[in-house]
Amino acid sequence: MNMYLLPILAIIIGAAIALLTRKQKPFGTKLLLSFSGAFLLALTFFDLLPEVYGHINAKQTGLFIMCGILLQVILEFFSKGAEHGHVHIHKNSSAFPWLLFISLCIHSFLEGFPIHQHNDMVYGVLVHKIPIAILITTFLLQSNYSKFQITSFLVVFAAMTPLGTYTANTLAFLSNYVYLVNAIVIGIFLHISTTILFETGEGHKFNLSKLVAICLGIVIAYYI
Ligand SMILES: [Zn+2]
Ligand SMILES: [Zn+2]
Repeated sequence: MNMYLLPILAIIIGAAIALLTRKQKPFGTKLLLSFSGAFLLALTFFDLLPEVYGHINAKQTGLFIMCGILLQVILEFFSKGAEHGHVHIHKNSSAFPWLLFISLCIHSFLEGFPIHQHNDMVYGVLVHKIPIAILITTFLLQSNYSKFQITSFLVVFAAMTPLGTYTANTLAFLSNYVYLVNAIVIGIFLHISTTILFETGEGHKFNLSKLVAICLGIVIAYYI
């Protein structure tokens, strides 16, 4: 059950933090992002990559991972990087941000695929989604969209990952295809988590708190 509920909980927590810190800049979002990037990357290497390599052959796995990286690059032309933590879209437009919305939904749907009872990917997705939900909600609140538009955006966005998980788990008889999709998701995770680690740094300056956040992410993923 947790594998369906935790990704939704991430959006609720993120949206709540964004609502509570409405006036000031959300505190510690950058550190939380660094932590989530390292945690997701580590879980991908510890859990997901060995699982996929165990089921489909190595070259094919590599090819699909590269496709995932490419897919995420393309999605980010439309989302402008919302999956890894920043939103820059014209704040004063009141037209619904369809491109952002659709690319985020595709990303979230796919990221539900590798979640099942026998791995810990759900925690990686949970931790990755909280800062993203904070940033998206903050962006939506600052925009001119109606309450109905904001709520629908968040509700559909929250539903996509469990929907992906459900699809993957009910297609169990097609398990080989699920592993191919999972290889694509590995590519997506590699792309977003390395981008997060790269972008949260400021000009390669030594940053102790970022370093601690990254180490914590790796250690927790190792022992989970
Ligand atoms: Zn970026
Ligand atoms: Zn994601």
